[in-house]
Amino acid sequence: MKTLKDLKIKSGTKVLLRVDYNVPISNSKLQDAWRIIQTLPTIKYLLEREACVILMSHLGRPGGMVKKELSLKSVAEYVGRKLRVRVDFLESLPGEADLKKHIHSMSPGTVVMLENLRFAPGEDAADPGFARALAELGQVYVNDAFGASHRKSASITLLPKLLPHAAGLLLEQEVQMLGKIVSRPAKPMVLLMGGAKVSDKIGVIKNLIKSAHKVLLGGALANNFFAAMGYSIGNSLYDKKEVALAKSLLKQKKIFLPYDVVVGVPGKPRSAKVVVLGDKDKLAAKGEAILDIGPLTINRYAAAIKEAATIVWNGPMGYTEEPQFSHGTAALMRVLAARSKGKAFGVLGGGESVEALRRTKMEDMVDWVSTGGGAMLEFLEGKSLPGIKVLS
Ligand code: ADP
Ligand code: MG
Repeated sequence: MKTLKDLKIKSGTKVLLRVDYNVPISNSKLQDAWRIIQTLPTIKYLLEREACVILMSHLGRPGGMVKKELSLKSVAEYVGRKLRVRVDFLESLPGEADLKKHIHSMSPGTVVMLENLRFAPGEDAADPGFARALAELGQVYVNDAFGASHRKSASITLLPKLLPHAAGLLLEQEVQMLGKIVSRPAKPMVLLMGGAKVSDKIGVIKNLIKSAHKVLLGGALANNFFAAMGYSIGNSLYDKKEVALAKSLLKQKKIFLPYDVVVGVPGKPRSAKVVVLGDKDKLAAKGEAILDIGPLTINRYAAAIKEAATIVWNGPMGYTEEPQFSHGTAALMRVLAARSKGKAFGVLGGGESVEALRRTKMEDMVDWVSTGGGAMLEFLEGKSLPGIKVLS
């Protein structure tokens, strides 16, 4: 994979920088800028060399149409404030004449940001014409959008073929850090998997179970396994279609399930109670749901994490949107942080997982917090991501 050092960047070089600023925005206000902050080193690197930086991203799923509520305008303003430079926000779509004119008149060491690439149908459709329209705007291409590199969009897979290209600093680090897990991880390795869907995570479990010592399951993911074992789980979130898959994995000795769970009713914090597995066939009654792992599980999983030289985590252990049901996740994340950068190599990724880690304020202690959700899962499955492959 080519990196920034492989590119000739001089004063005035027009750099098309693909970033993943698919961040939460409500009422035109940015809710969380973490993914943006992670790309600032690359922008600064380019500005130090007096490049003209043209930022490109997608946001949400506008489906090839202009949707005002999915505009990147507030993001451009944020980047400007953060970098203390003016960031001109350009509303015209690639292919329109005035956009090209504006970019051609940029002075060295300045930044512009394009409107949501998905406002044009050509981005998701991977339309070669759209890629050419983008290529006309710059001289070199840099991909710092790890979170979008598993997609076949025009700006990810076609544009780099048309220009000298390289990975940005963030993408380079993602590949280096996640690469350590896929090839020759320090052993023993412990994998924590939670969140909602087995089908999203099965590929990672299947790939990493070979080199992992233990796979610790939690979250709604574990509910599919409880259902497969014949427990009644009340109104717990699970997917009937995934129970068979869970059953087949149960035979694996390396797979561990919660020893106890917290059962309750969402929105009713005082409903929470601990139920130990094996005591009875019914874990949750009708109207109740399994919403977290229990104290015994926290204790045993923490002990397993402490044995590990590599710790990999995707997906929360419970319904972390409610504080009452986020104790299991928070407790184990503190153990992950405490072991990282020393005793073990610790990596965590996934939208809700990262949010939960950041609420503990210990994210800086973890070796690598990935900006990729789906992209991280595909990488850990051992797949080659199209957006990375094309940068070779
Ligand atoms: P990530 O974004 O970290 O990859 P996922 O998207 O797979 O994780 O899953 C996160 C979601 O799973 C969160 O919204 C969380 O509330 C939910 N979740 C986890 N455990 C449970 C549970 N026991 N019941 C209901 N929802 C759960
Ligand atoms: Mg998620």
